[in-house]
Amino acid sequence: MARLIFKKNPPPESISAENWSSWRWQIQNSYRSQADFERIFCLTESEKLAFSQGGEIFNIRTTPYYANLCSQASEDPIRRILMPRKEELSTGAQQMHDPLGEKANSPVPRIIHRYSDRVLLLVTDVCSVYCRYCTRKHFTGQDQAFIKESELISALNYIRTRPGIREVILSGGDPLTLSDSRLESILAELRQIKHVEIIRLGTRMPVVCPQRIDESLVKLLRQMKPVYVMTHFNHPREVTEEAAIALELFVDHGIPVLNQMVLLNGVNNHPAIVQALSRRLLYLRVKPYYMFQCDPSLGTDHLRTSVEESMQIQRALWGHLSGIALPNLSLDIPNGGGKTVLVPNFQTSHHGPIRSYKGWDGVEANYVSPAIEASISPLDAEDYVEEWQEILSARSTQL
Ligand code: SF4
Repeated sequence: MARLIFKKNPPPESISAENWSSWRWQIQNSYRSQADFERIFCLTESEKLAFSQGGEIFNIRTTPYYANLCSQASEDPIRRILMPRKEELSTGAQQMHDPLGEKANSPVPRIIHRYSDRVLLLVTDVCSVYCRYCTRKHFTGQDQAFIKESELISALNYIRTRPGIREVILSGGDPLTLSDSRLESILAELRQIKHVEIIRLGTRMPVVCPQRIDESLVKLLRQMKPVYVMTHFNHPREVTEEAAIALELFVDHGIPVLNQMVLLNGVNNHPAIVQALSRRLLYLRVKPYYMFQCDPSLGTDHLRTSVEESMQIQRALWGHLSGIALPNLSLDIPNGGGKTVLVPNFQTSHHGPIRSYKGWDGVEANYVSPAIEASISPLDAEDYVEEWQEILSARSTQL
């Protein structure tokens, strides 16, 4: 089996294999206080300062499993993701409480509606690890846990009464911190809404608590198809044997998995690291989808890369990773401006129909556009829309 080639970090001797493999045990025994972390790590002065002053900026938490992936080195990449440090307390170049302008795009509690055909539904604010670079610090980690019944009813009504919404992305917090039965009740409600075609689940659990992904969960997701899992691996060391088993369970049950990584200073800001991560994920049939520029949320300057550096990394990957392994470098325009994809520019000149290019390895050539402009008549376009509506209603009668 492919998964056997990935590294397994043995649990500490004091913890039984049974506890270690239980996702509930991992969450219930998360490290949250300075004392918890000091049992495992020799804290630096910078980390101690952040524990004493920084918990108020953003909650601190990790599963024992994820902490076990760190070495004792203070600059260990995974340690930089999970451990607060004093730089979080400094004023940075840009410090935004809500970088994506989500509050302004929240028509009812727990719904974020930024694009016409899709919404985010925030089903919990809890994560099993609080990543220091989190973009949603204005919401995540306040321990309100499961969405209130009244909020869920109004969120579902919002979706139900807007036929233009075709995709619902369950997010948070991490939706996979919910039990299967809670998840099932939300998914079943969504599947009753005919115009909701796709459900996505944004989760970091395959990375930080892969024990959560078991047969009963994947069977539930398969039953609610089409469900896409959007996961969030940032570093090749996160792709352990346990994570590989979790990813294979999804894919073997027909659940597509895409990865969204964030470029982070001192964690993965090198083309060789991105390449190693992408190759491992692709081997496990996970599509490396986005490589995000880190959002300027509070206390993240030490973790952010410059746009120039990110573009250099992207350019260095071009030509060395196949298209299916290459994630799209993307930046979220602050204040809810939406995504912009950052791609290397290979065009060197443009005169009328002639465009000149210089490729990633220096090959130069012209591309000449044809004189005739092709177009699809509006009548044809209508036909496709109608045909799709018929397919969807036929499908909903089968459910
Ligand atoms: S798992 Fe996602 S939502 Fe949770 S802290 Fe990390 S980045 Fe933020």
